[in-house]
Amino acid sequence: MRPRALPALALGLVLLVTGCGEAGKSPEKAAAPPSDSAAPAPSPVTRPSPTRTPAKPKLRPLPKKLPAGLHRASGSNGVALTFDDGPDPRFTPQILAQLRAARVQATFCVVGKQAERYPELVARIVREGHQLCNHSWHHDMNLGRRSAAEIRSDLQRTNEAIHAAAPKAPITWFRQPGGRWTAEEVTIARQMGLRPLHWSVDPQDWDHPPAETIIKRVKGATRHGSVVLLHDAGGDRTQTMAACRHLIPDIKRRYGIALPR
Ligand SMILES: [Zn+2]
Repeated sequence: MRPRALPALALGLVLLVTGCGEAGKSPEKAAAPPSDSAAPAPSPVTRPSPTRTPAKPKLRPLPKKLPAGLHRASGSNGVALTFDDGPDPRFTPQILAQLRAARVQATFCVVGKQAERYPELVARIVREGHQLCNHSWHHDMNLGRRSAAEIRSDLQRTNEAIHAAAPKAPITWFRQPGGRWTAEEVTIARQMGLRPLHWSVDPQDWDHPPAETIIKRVKGATRHGSVVLLHDAGGDRTQTMAACRHLIPDIKRRYGIALPR
């Protein structure tokens, strides 16, 4: 087969070379410009490149220290409980039932997309006397690093989803996903009437430690005025739910449970 294949290869090479030469000499006359791989010659005519993607917008750097002005204490002697990333159809009703049984209120940091998907849960959170916190549209860990316009529209869209579910419900707080705050974001949230809510106790329940570990971590770090970060969504929260069955009555008895202010 070799002898027969060779002439064909040679013909191909000739065609390729002539194609390049023509395109190089008078590109504007070339009826059908050869593909990119066959036309490496520098061409004075710039062809439109519809496939070129716009450069990614630059993210501002994260500060080394948390910015000033974050609320990291409950503002009273009581301990504030916060539940992030919901609402979730499996776990949010469970935690609502626990809170109701203990007759205490908590703060729910809800994700806009989740609020849009489960509006009846947002309405129930409000109806049962709990407080709302905007936790961004889709849990954007880098939101604080984006442009002011992007931050503003993300927070606005999330507020709108919450208000579609619970019209006129006050949205007291904003919490940046992952606690990755920037000073610019804190300023924008404040301008929108959202106070920046951080935390002082983080048992890292998002990482699915056993309930006993969550209990130990929370009890070891909680003081009067603590803000405890917990999750009622974003994964399997069975262990968090089990820990809360112990923690909610225990914290209530030791310190009292209060909404942050
Ligand atoms: Zn979160």
